[in-house]
Parts: sequence; C-alpha cells; structure tokens
Amino acid sequence: MPCYRCGRIQTDPVKGASPWGRGVVEGAQILICPECQTSDPEWPRSLDACPRCGGTRLSVVMGSIVCRSCNADWTGA
Ligand SMILES: [Zn+2]
Ligand SMILES: [Zn+2]
Repeated sequence: MPCYRCGRIQTDPVKGASPWGRGVVEGAQILICPECQTSDPEWPRSLDACPRCGGTRLSVVMGSIVCRSCNADWTGA
C-alpha cells in the first residue's frame, strides 16, 4: 500500500516497528511514509478517531473499523 499523501511505495519492509504510520481516514486504511510524517507533524489529526476512547490506532476488518486500543468496532462512513 502506498503512502496516502505522496504515493510513495513502502520499500524494504522491516520486522518490528515500522517508521510508516498507519491509520484510518474516512473509513479506509491508510499508510503514511516517514517523510510525510516529518513534513506534517500534525498528521494524526487527520485520522479517524475511536468514538469510545479517541484513539487513532485503528484497523479496518471486514468492512468494520476496529480500535486496537479498546477493541471497539463500528462501521465507517
Ligand atoms: Zn508520503
Ligand atoms: Zn478505542
């Protein structure tokens, strides 16, 4: 999956923590590259947030959005 801002393709995937950010925007899973994170430190503000805990560590599973912080799930817009 490319960076949703600049379209760069994720290269050289490494095990463990990736410098690429993950999130959900308008109900769709996105990735953001380290460069775009650096150029826009406020990038997490554009992510969808969990309605229960406000967290942005979300995943899209079978059309539903699941919060990886509190396990709430809901249907995206
Ligand atoms: Zn980018
Ligand atoms: Zn949550």
